[in-house]
Amino acid sequence: MDKAADVVVIGAGIAGTATAYYLAKGGAKVIVCEKGEIAGEQSSRNWGFVRQQGRDPAEIPLMMEANKIWRGLERELNADLEWISAGNMVTFDTDEEAAGWEQWRQTAQDFGLPAQLLSRAELDAITPGNAFDCKGAIFTETDGQAEPTKVTAALARAAEGRGAEFLTHCAVFEIETTGGAVSGVDTEHGTIRAPVVVCAGGAWSGRMLRTLGLKLPQMWIKGSVARTTAAPVISHAATWTGVAFRQRRDGTFNIATRSADHDLTLDSVLNFPAFAGSFARNKRDIKLHLNRLAFDLLGGSFSKAALAKELTTHRILDPEPNHKVLNHVLSELHRLLPDTATVEIERSWAGYIDMAPDMLPTLDALDQPSGLVLATGFSGHGFGMGPIVGRLISELIQNGKPSLDLKAFRFSRFSDGTKLTPHSVV
Ligand SMILES: Cc1cc2nc3c(=O)[nH]c(=O)nc-3n(C[C@H](O)[C@H](O)[C@H](O)COP(=O)(O)OP(=O)(O)OC[C@H]3O[C@@H](n4cnc5c(N)ncnc54)[C@H](O)[C@@H]3O)c2cc1C
Repeated sequence: MDKAADVVVIGAGIAGTATAYYLAKGGAKVIVCEKGEIAGEQSSRNWGFVRQQGRDPAEIPLMMEANKIWRGLERELNADLEWISAGNMVTFDTDEEAAGWEQWRQTAQDFGLPAQLLSRAELDAITPGNAFDCKGAIFTETDGQAEPTKVTAALARAAEGRGAEFLTHCAVFEIETTGGAVSGVDTEHGTIRAPVVVCAGGAWSGRMLRTLGLKLPQMWIKGSVARTTAAPVISHAATWTGVAFRQRRDGTFNIATRSADHDLTLDSVLNFPAFAGSFARNKRDIKLHLNRLAFDLLGGSFSKAALAKELTTHRILDPEPNHKVLNHVLSELHRLLPDTATVEIERSWAGYIDMAPDMLPTLDALDQPSGLVLATGFSGHGFGMGPIVGRLISELIQNGKPSLDLKAFRFSRFSDGTKLTPHSVV
């Protein structure tokens, strides 16, 4: 293979695919290289919450704009995405939590985003028959949910319809540079020449960038999810109440919880200083494991040949879900929503989330090397953000200036002394 493009995108998750869609719409010749399948990793494995609620203030304007895109996305892509706009609800038990949410609500209001603190009675009207152990909840009515197994696939079809090319089973081994500028990529099937390369490699971005001497701190966290059998529809509000759930149009639920697993690798050690604070705050919810992954991912931190082997061995990260946790989540669902008493787990899966120390993505065009654009590090909440990320990154490339301020998401924050503290709740 010896090809040329205006832009090469590494990774066909929602970030890379949405970027390709908007670039192709703007007339660019785009090639997307995906080592596995379209949306094989996080983008098809997430809960499907599309929320503005609980976001870091820096992300609120992006999510408000994303929300507008989501509302018209089925029409725009001519596809069923199972979009439902029935709000996002998070319950609270203590006055302290209520005060925290009230503060967030006021911040959201300053941006023009309405959210409400619900009394118990108001909450019961949204989710009838619930047995939640809570005092009240925060609710953002304009939030929604969509089906991850459909969204990125639909974006990819629409991008292809506008001329974008998707090469699956095509791992990028190296981003090539000439005289301080990006000149293309070296893939397992040959070279693609391009003056612009977008790194949207999800959990792999940190490893990929390390080959250029760039340090993007990332930590892989494994989240487990289950899909249940159907129950009569109770509520379509995407809800977090100790367990997270959303009921789909067909009555089935996606269920999960906050507790997560971390499979130790060399990166856990190399990146630990940047994550020590987060780990200390969340250690009750994170279980550490030492397993095969630690040995599988040993060499890629040091040699390009070893990284190439990792990328082709792990075509699709498909870790084993934590069944013990999911069984507990199911019994909690039965208790919290008694009308679900007969539902059972139909299937379960897991995904590795790419966490950043401040839980913010990196959306930036670098000076060194020029032509390298980063759209990665979504820290467990990049599904809802996917469409706006694609639009903003395409604006950055095609107009030199995005329509929303991306300063908070600059790559240099990892080295310019910025205090990296998470402000988002999930
Ligand atoms: C369990 C779970 C629950 C979640 N819940 C939510 C939620 O409810 N709401 C929400 O907004 N977000 C949620 N998220 C987060 C969301 O799924 C991610 O933030 C988002 O999908 C990230 O998209 P991405 O395109 O950056 O990465 P990915 O979808 O991981 O895609 C990256 C792609 O790049 C490819 N790739 C990497 N390196 C290379 C290479 N060198 N060459 C070729 N291809 C390469 C990979 O194979 C992969 O397909 C959740 C995630 C998980 C795992």
